[in-house]
Amino acid sequence: MTRSVIVLGAGMVGVSCALALQKRGLKVTLVDRREPGRETSYGNAGVISRSSIMPLNNPGLWKNLPKYLGNRHAAVRYRLGHLLANPGWILGFLSEAKPDRLAPRVAALESLIAPSLPLHKRLMTEAGIAWRLRDTGFLELWRSEEGRAAAEARRTFLEDHGVRVEALDRQALSALEPSLNPIFSAALLHKDSASVDWPGAVVEAYAALFAARGGTVLRHEVTGLSKQGEGWRVTTKSAQYDADLAVVALGPWSADLLRPLGLKVPLNVERGYHRHYQPAQGRFLNRPIYDVEASYMLAPMERGLRLTSGVELAHRDAPDDHAQIEQVLPRAREAFPLTEPAEDTTWRGSRPTLPDSLPMIGEAPRNPGLWLAFGNQHIGFSTGPVTGEILAALVCGEPAPADPAPFAPGRYLS
Ligand SMILES: Cc1cc2nc3c(=O)[nH]c(=O)nc-3n(C[C@H](O)[C@H](O)[C@H](O)COP(=O)(O)OP(=O)(O)OC[C@H]3O[C@@H](n4cnc5c(N)ncnc54)[C@H](O)[C@@H]3O)c2cc1C
Repeated sequence: MTRSVIVLGAGMVGVSCALALQKRGLKVTLVDRREPGRETSYGNAGVISRSSIMPLNNPGLWKNLPKYLGNRHAAVRYRLGHLLANPGWILGFLSEAKPDRLAPRVAALESLIAPSLPLHKRLMTEAGIAWRLRDTGFLELWRSEEGRAAAEARRTFLEDHGVRVEALDRQALSALEPSLNPIFSAALLHKDSASVDWPGAVVEAYAALFAARGGTVLRHEVTGLSKQGEGWRVTTKSAQYDADLAVVALGPWSADLLRPLGLKVPLNVERGYHRHYQPAQGRFLNRPIYDVEASYMLAPMERGLRLTSGVELAHRDAPDDHAQIEQVLPRAREAFPLTEPAEDTTWRGSRPTLPDSLPMIGEAPRNPGLWLAFGNQHIGFSTGPVTGEILAALVCGEPAPADPAPFAPGRYLS
C-alpha cells in the first residue's frame, strides 16, 4: 500500500522534503498558510554555499564576545529580555563553542553542504529554472591589514576541507568586480559556491515541480497535530487531514506545534533583515559579496541589490529594530555605489537555530510516524534539498546521503 505523508511548511526545507518523499513513491500533501517560499526562504541572500562549514558558535566566538556585549556591533545584536527568557538555548549555544565540539560539527555541516549545489542544479534543471543560478561563486572581503591574516587563515581552513577558494589581490578583485570601490585589502573567491537571483522564486518553482508530478499543495494555517490511530492528524482552521506520516518543516515556527505533544525543542531564531537598493548607473555586481568586517552581504537580485544584515537575537515575533541594517548601509555604500531603495519596506526573517547549529532531521522519539526537518540556521536555502533527501531516505529505510546521526532529534528530545 502507498503510504501517505503530510509535510507541514513549504519553505525550502519542506518543499525539498515533499519532492524527495514523492520521488520515493509516497503520496505527499504539502501544507502552508502562505504561498510556497514566502518566509525565511524568501528573504535570504541566495547563496548556495560550499564554504559555510564553520558554525557561528565556534571557539573564536569567545574572542569576539566582548565586542558584541556592548550591543552596538552590526554582526550581532541582542535583546537582553529575550536572552534571559531563554537561558537554556543561550547557555547551550555558548557551551557548543568549546574546542572539542568543533570538529564533529564541522564534519556534520560539511556532509550537508558538500552535496547541496549538485542537488540544487539537478532540481533547477528539472524545474526549468537553471537560468536563475549564477555559477560565479561569492566573494568574502576584508578591509584592514589584520583582515589579510584572517583571510589567509580562512583560506587554509577551507582548503584543508577540500573547498576551492582563491585569494585575490586588489587588481584581480577589480578585474572580477569592476564596480567595487578599491577599499578591500584581502579577498577570497569561493569557487565551489553559487547564488540565485530570487530565492523565493526558486522555492516556488520547486513547489510547482512537486505539483506537476502529482503532489497536492494546500493553503491552510495549521493549528494542531495529533496522533490518530496508527497515523497523524493535521488540524487547520477549516479542515482536518489524516496521513500515515507527518513531517514538521515549519522552520522558525517548528517548535510551536510540537510543544503540545510534549516535545520541547530548544529552537531559537537569529533574526535578519534585508532591503533592496538600485545601483548607480552602469554599476553592477556579478556575484554576492560578504564584507566581513562591516558585517553585511550585498547580493545582486532580480529586483535590485539585496543588502542583508547580521544576527539579531530577539523573540521571533518581536517588533522590528532596523538599527543593524541602517548601520551597515553607509558601510555598504563605501564599497559599492547604491542609490535609491528599490522599495519602501524592510523585510525581516528568522534563521531557525538549535544550540549546536545543526538541523534536526529524523523521527521524533516516542512518536512513530512523526518526522522532523528544521533548524537549518544560516544555510537552509543551500541545505534544504539534502535535508529532504536524508529525511526521505530515513523514512524509506534507505541509506541516507549523509550520516544522519549528528542530526538525530534524540540529541535534544528523549
Ligand atoms: C537575512 C538572511 C540571510 C540568509 N542567507 C542565506 C543564504 O545566503 N544561503 C542560505 O543557504 N541560507 C540563508 N539564510 C537561511 C535560510 O534562509 C533559512 O535557513 C531557510 O530559509 C529556512 O527554511 P525553512 O524551510 O526551514 O523555513 P521557512 O522558509 O521559514 O519555511 C517555513 C514555512 O512554514 C510556514 N508555516 C509556519 N507556521 C505555519 C502554520 N502554523 N501553518 C502553516 N504554515 C506555517 C511558513 O509560512 C513558511 O513558509 C538566510 C537567512 C536570513 C534571515
